Amino acid sequence: MKLFDYARTARASEAVELVAARPGGAFIAGGTELTNLMKDGVLAPDLVVDVNSLPLDHITLRNGRLSIGATARMRDVAEHPVVREHFPVVSEALLASASPQVRGRASVGGNLMQRTRCWYYRDPGSPCNRREPGSGCPALKGQNRWHAILGGSDHCIAVHPSDLAVALAALDAVVLTLGPDGRRSLPLRDLHLLPGGTPHRETGLRHGEMITGVEIPQSPLARHSRYLKVRDRASFEFAVVSVAAALTLKGRVVSDVRLAFGGIAPKPWRSPKAEQALRNRPLTEVTIAMAGRALVKDATPREHNAFKVDLVQRALADILETLGGKR
Ligand code: SF4
Repeated sequence: MKLFDYARTARASEAVELVAARPGGAFIAGGTELTNLMKDGVLAPDLVVDVNSLPLDHITLRNGRLSIGATARMRDVAEHPVVREHFPVVSEALLASASPQVRGRASVGGNLMQRTRCWYYRDPGSPCNRREPGSGCPALKGQNRWHAILGGSDHCIAVHPSDLAVALAALDAVVLTLGPDGRRSLPLRDLHLLPGGTPHRETGLRHGEMITGVEIPQSPLARHSRYLKVRDRASFEFAVVSVAAALTLKGRVVSDVRLAFGGIAPKPWRSPKAEQALRNRPLTEVTIAMAGRALVKDATPREHNAFKVDLVQRALADILETLGGKR
């Protein structure tokens, strides 16, 4: 690991100033992601600013919005009674993430900012357009079992690993930030970028801009929501595919629905066409199959991940049947 400077502050504006002033500066909270990447030689910040003293660990429901601070720990959010009752998809996504030890340490902000698990990205000896622009993407013709079937490009087909981000995308959450230009909010679905020709630009945040929290609107949809994660083993594993679904029914007719998917795209993947296939229609095997087909219509499977096209449709059918009361 390369030597780096360390700073700690209890003022958010000072944390932003410190990181913004150094091109190689980075924020750190739980440290479960950044320190691993530093030890492996994937990232080498020359300044690490510790934000654990900032007053950003709240979890509060007020005026119809759940507000979660960026340094709230994954475990505390997952186990919070309000989250479990009113936003079950968030709790389930967090409980399906990492290990109990990591959940007790990792922060919400850090979870949203975690990097892809693409093994070429995590191996400094491999070329990788995301880590080193212009060096190439060995995953395109290499081991791409875990890679994207939607939203990738000829420059990168990595998937985003955060379960929480998928749940938040389904609930139309908003990300709050503080940067050198002040505060702003942006939809969670706009936080992560598709790779296009610039896969090294992973988020819409500017250098020195820090996530301070997320807000989720309370609604009947959010209360009737679930998360399903398909993975290679039952513990501490990233999603092969995952689905966050929120659904309201009038009788058997879908009055409203939100769907987001993980493990299939470089960002949490919303599918308006799949939602459209369900909205104002009876929740039946036929409409569920229509939604699945709409989801994967533009999929571009690779040599080792074509199975995801079928798997994600099965996962969607499973979670919709659960929410519809058939399971
Ligand atoms: Fe790098 Fe993306 Fe290719 Fe993986 S898929 S090697 S992260 S460019």
